Amino acid sequence: MQQNNVQQAHWGTDYVRSISPYVGGKPIAEVARQFGLQPERIVKLASNENPLGMSPRARDAVLAAMSDSTRYPDNDGYALKQALAQKLGVPAAWITLGHGSSDLLEMAARALLTDADAGMYARYSFIVYTQAVQGVGATHQVVPDRDFGHDLPAMLAAITPQTKLIYVANPNNPTGTFLEADALLSFLRQVPPHIAVVLDEAYGEYTEPGLRYDSMQWVREFPNLIVSRTFSKAYGLAGLRIGYGVSQPPLTDVLNRVRSAFNTSSLGQAAALAALDDQDFIDQAYTVNRAGHAQLAAAFDALGLHYIPSQGNFILVKVGDDDGAGARVNLALLQRGVIARPVDNYGLPQWLRISIGTEAENAACIAALRAHDVGG
Ligand SMILES: *Cc1c(COP(=O)(O)O)cnc(C)c1O
Repeated sequence: MQQNNVQQAHWGTDYVRSISPYVGGKPIAEVARQFGLQPERIVKLASNENPLGMSPRARDAVLAAMSDSTRYPDNDGYALKQALAQKLGVPAAWITLGHGSSDLLEMAARALLTDADAGMYARYSFIVYTQAVQGVGATHQVVPDRDFGHDLPAMLAAITPQTKLIYVANPNNPTGTFLEADALLSFLRQVPPHIAVVLDEAYGEYTEPGLRYDSMQWVREFPNLIVSRTFSKAYGLAGLRIGYGVSQPPLTDVLNRVRSAFNTSSLGQAAALAALDDQDFIDQAYTVNRAGHAQLAAAFDALGLHYIPSQGNFILVKVGDDDGAGARVNLALLQRGVIARPVDNYGLPQWLRISIGTEAENAACIAALRAHDVGG
């Protein structure tokens, strides 16, 4: 047999070798295999997907776009950018399309940071920020949370001459915490103008109406602001990988210079374009989500479990007092066919993040928690 010529690997830079690969929610098929369960009976509440699926208009558009998929996609996403520009009230030239909005988060790091710079984000915030900063060898400035959310005054105080990029998620993942408009605006006014701020609004559609703000107005006011949004969550297009950023032209220009060629697919562009047209679907997703939040919150209260009220489509819930609790309860839920999300990689080993599902999915999750006697 031929000897494989495998050497001790020393490829890549030190900083690339120390990246922790992203760990997603467990796929249904994998859990079915592992635990001997019927896939149809498994409830996945692990990746903040839309339990309603996608708008029928988006589905039809994808099927129609299939036949054109021999051709490369429109690298500039002309039609989708025109529709977004119309909807958002900004010029199309202010929009950058991404392979999901994670792509935008990565582009910002590639365009704006070197290994001599620093990127800042909050403790208990989206793990992709860590990876994006690590991927370019920049220094991490991780600012301790305030009540599980962003501590904006502490973030301002932590700015150094090296700081070039700050990520703020609102609503935040994995905690569901929310920063009100006044606090954000005051923060944006105090960040020095040579430091870019990415305001990540992946869950913006789930924010309660009384708390919403017009961040497009802020993009017009602040040349250092990038607002990122996604079609993965409320729009239900996670598998098609499409999101976007909005920023003034000088920032948009550098983002597009590091954007990979053909980073968004024809199917993703077509689906997003059609989905934008179906506001009823988004309204329905919002309503189902708020009802599900109330349902899960009431059950957590009854079980004596501490949770963080969420403005997203998921709830962070504390399932025990020891550092093995998250893993233990996660396993118990998996055995009962419920996939939740452990968050030990976020430094929260006593907690689970549970995506808000349909009424029946939430009920299955609650029943599994009861059966495991969590909290009791
Ligand atoms: C899910 C998520 C995103 C977007 O993910 P994509 O699928 O890449 O668009 C961005 N930010 C946060 C905080 C998220 O939770």
